[in-house]
Amino acid sequence: MQLKDPQLLRQQAYIDGQWLDADSGQTIAVNNPATGEIIGHVPKMGRAETRRAIEAAEKALPAWRALTAKERANKLRRWFELLMENQDDLGRLMTLEQGKPLAEAKGEIAYAASFIEWFAEEAKRVYGDVIPGHQPDKRLIVIKQPIGVTAAITPWNFPAAMITRKAGPALAAGCTMVIKPASQTPFSALALVELAERAGIPKGVLSVVTGSAGEVGGELTSNPIVRKLSFTGSTEIGRQLMAECAQDIKKVSLELGGNAPFIVFDDADLDAAVEGALISKYRNNGQTCVCANRIYVQDGVYDAFAEKLIAAVGKLKIGNGLEDGTTTGPLIDEKAVAKVQEHIADAVNKGAKLALGGKPHALGGTFFEPTILVDVPKTAAVAKEETFGPLAPLFRFKDEAEVIAMANDTEFGLASYFYARDLGRVFRVAEALEYGMVGINTGLISNEVAPFGGVKASGLGREGSKYGIEDYLEIKYMCLGGI
Ligand code: ADP
Repeated sequence: MQLKDPQLLRQQAYIDGQWLDADSGQTIAVNNPATGEIIGHVPKMGRAETRRAIEAAEKALPAWRALTAKERANKLRRWFELLMENQDDLGRLMTLEQGKPLAEAKGEIAYAASFIEWFAEEAKRVYGDVIPGHQPDKRLIVIKQPIGVTAAITPWNFPAAMITRKAGPALAAGCTMVIKPASQTPFSALALVELAERAGIPKGVLSVVTGSAGEVGGELTSNPIVRKLSFTGSTEIGRQLMAECAQDIKKVSLELGGNAPFIVFDDADLDAAVEGALISKYRNNGQTCVCANRIYVQDGVYDAFAEKLIAAVGKLKIGNGLEDGTTTGPLIDEKAVAKVQEHIADAVNKGAKLALGGKPHALGGTFFEPTILVDVPKTAAVAKEETFGPLAPLFRFKDEAEVIAMANDTEFGLASYFYARDLGRVFRVAEALEYGMVGINTGLISNEVAPFGGVKASGLGREGSKYGIEDYLEIKYMCLGGI
């Protein structure tokens, strides 16, 4: 596999500080989406193994929680350093199981590591409050305490960052965590905990259980020891997990689907808008929940924008992510290809015109041509549903009110983007968009210091930033009387 450190390819799950196989001995094969080759296997675990991981997290909790924030921060800091020292290997492993180009995979490792670094720092800033009392003999004090045992279920599109964005604040706050990674990309998760172990994170504090989504997930949501679940994935599964968590009134953080509008106004800097659209739409081959899903372009610049975008997208280099110069890898699986094809066929049937691409790539497998559709009608499915692939549909609009109405006409509310230079318009539009995040004159908004998250059916809670740690803390109010 050509890793500098072959120990980073772990084919066992990590529970209570031990590398283990499934009780049943069953495994799940993990394939390389660029070649279809099997790169290894992980245990197919179920409820019993998950229960053991949860019980280990409960056992590890008192000692972990009792450390000073600085002591926990020192271990997290060491974990951050190890992630960066092993960036090449971790990037390579990710490209192999996920398909994204190596430069992008290494970029994700730096992004993933940044959450550990950030929350190691934030661990020391979990401040409480002293509230002016309501009676002369009382003092009112608020402290924040770790929630306890937490669980995370993560997707395949960011195999490392979606884990550290949850484990970072959890561990910093003094919580312990059991993680179920996506079965398509478990090796990145296992490599992360191998490094966490080397960084001195005590056994039981962080476990990774690979296996059946229904069984592992079912135990995580139904076991009363688990006090909080953080999930990143589809709205459909998020809704189901939230309902399961309702039984014990577990706290939930949900980072679900998006359907990002990307709006280009007449006064936009068109070259900048094209560059932003390219990054926002085609990063990770369109497989991020903040990818532009619908591109709205005002009448006056529609043709010029379309022409420039077609030229820019035409230069993307599709291929195996390990090859030099590749900008765009394969899609994750056949289901992803089918969804893109479905959205193209639906839009074309309703009158859209194909301006670029439109079919599976000559490389075969799950490679797909970067596609642009123009004159897409409002009634197309892609106006309402997330494509999660390399399809850019261009819609035409006349004025601000019309485009805001179209942009908000969706159950989702994660990321949105627009390009404009008029200051009044910038404020009006930014305030009117019903989204958790708004990129203004930029197509790239994610970083560890800013709050990531959505409104409406896109989720609950925020990750990253000073707000991110709050999702792992409980507020305790102490009322001191008799003074
Ligand atoms: P995607 O469509 O992006 O794969 P999913 O929501 O299906 O998104 O999957 C995201 C994560 O949720 C993965 O780790 C997957 O294994 C897990 N998952 C899927 N179905 C369930 C389920 N019924 N219970 C718990 N976890 C699940």
